[in-house]
Amino acid sequence: MIVEEWSQPFVNPTEALRMRSLSPLSPEKPMLPDPDTLYAALVTREDRFDGRVLVCVTSTGIYCRLGCSARTPLRRNVEFRASVEECEALGFRACKRCRPDQMRAPRAGSSSFTAS
Ligand SMILES: [Zn+2]
Repeated sequence: MIVEEWSQPFVNPTEALRMRSLSPLSPEKPMLPDPDTLYAALVTREDRFDGRVLVCVTSTGIYCRLGCSARTPLRRNVEFRASVEECEALGFRACKRCRPDQMRAPRAGSSSFTAS
């Protein structure tokens, strides 16, 4: 007996998520990677997700970039969000150390940016 193989190409779930989150026209919220993966990246200060994922610290009411040098919060005190707007809508304030609010798209005509 012959078992037919699926003719559809295999799509790596991680790749599928990445492609979805990169689509600017998607009406859906971008899907974040698994929270445990993100927390591991936070602990190790991995920059793989820097700029794409924000960490909201519920114990302090502050949100950070993943690569922030502030003390690593406890796992139960963190929530991961995909955008600055989302964090602020939830009442979190931007961390003064890593300035996640500067991840926002620069406004047209702004000339205050200085390279350091
Ligand atoms: Zn920070």
